[in-house]
Amino acid sequence: MDGRPTSDRVEAVAAATPFRLLYEFYRRSGYERRRHEPGVLDFTFGDPHDLASDEYVEALREAAVPRHELWYAYNFGDRAATEAATESLREHLGIPFEVEDVHLTTGGFAAISAALKVVADPGDEVVYSLPPWFLYEGLVLEAGLVPVKVSIDRDTFDLDLDAIAAAITPRTRVVIVNSPNNPTGRVYPPSTLAHLADLLEDASQRHGRRIFLVSDEAYNRIVFDGTRFRSPVEFYPWSFVAYSYGKTLLSPGERAGYLAVPPSMPDREAVRAAIEAIQITGGWLFPNVTMQYALPRLERIAFDIELFQRKRDTMLAALREIGYHVKTPEGTFYLFPEAPGGDDAEFARALDREGVLVLPGGMFETPGFFRICLTATMDTIEQSLPRFAAAFASVG
Ligand code: PMP
Repeated sequence: MDGRPTSDRVEAVAAATPFRLLYEFYRRSGYERRRHEPGVLDFTFGDPHDLASDEYVEALREAAVPRHELWYAYNFGDRAATEAATESLREHLGIPFEVEDVHLTTGGFAAISAALKVVADPGDEVVYSLPPWFLYEGLVLEAGLVPVKVSIDRDTFDLDLDAIAAAITPRTRVVIVNSPNNPTGRVYPPSTLAHLADLLEDASQRHGRRIFLVSDEAYNRIVFDGTRFRSPVEFYPWSFVAYSYGKTLLSPGERAGYLAVPPSMPDREAVRAAIEAIQITGGWLFPNVTMQYALPRLERIAFDIELFQRKRDTMLAALREIGYHVKTPEGTFYLFPEAPGGDDAEFARALDREGVLVLPGGMFETPGFFRICLTATMDTIEQSLPRFAAAFASVG
């Protein structure tokens, strides 16, 4: 008798490379204790390090007060919240999304997972680029799909379109694109997105099966130097936008985001019903009602892009002065420098000895680099600079 309490599927999910490494780091490495030790400077995850603003707290407080007996009833997507999300999406992307095509979810996780399940059947392949967001592989496996990984161009951090083209097979159903990219900070230019669209159209025609694009845009409002973010959705009609409020509002523990379908998508009625079905059967993947009611107010809270640009510029200038090789991120709140000495795990340990916590590139299946997260405070950034210098000297 097979007495195992776990399914093959969950075993595969738990063994998925970045997910397993993340889990081990978070739960087993002592990180949870270490990050709270006095004097330790934490640059690992996109968690907030400043107290939430009064504006934010007030929006949630107001949303918690019931105004009628159905206030806390099941809610598939509050109309005012969905309208606010749709309006800002239209404004940000310059695409006339319809309110009925914006589906509020419990953040980016649920939006990506729902998109995969709506279009793909078990055994279908999902192509994405390394370094990836940690959870792509886990979400793909959990949906019964097959992850197919290609590398970005490591010199430019751009998508390697030839590698994507070569990875496509008759079983390819989805390509995930993440721009602005976690962890590289790269914002893919319109020319790349246009070529990608051509490539996906050609491959779909060749194989007689539509390939869909899932655009993971959790950071689409976090772009620097006045750059206008361009969404892959503008270029390829068979695309979904997965968005999370956790980044812009610096509150990933309060779950809200959406999956949006552009007006260019054929047969949107069927897609609408399919997304809702997956949200329900996936375990009620709608935000809690208080988050929904707060959303119109939360939408009006601006991300302090000047502050984050100052943090990026301070860190970049200091690292380069020390001798680090690091590209300028065009968006997100991450830096992805090369690990001095070449061994990212060893270098992360050298930084740890200085009391600075970062994530080694190996955790993103991209050895030789490491990730710095700038949700740390400006004060923490300034304190860390001599320590980054000391760690650099220790491997030099
Ligand atoms: N995509 C990317 C690229 C991310 O970095 C994250 C969060 N780290 C997500 C999706 C998921 O966002 P959320 O936790 O808000 O659902």
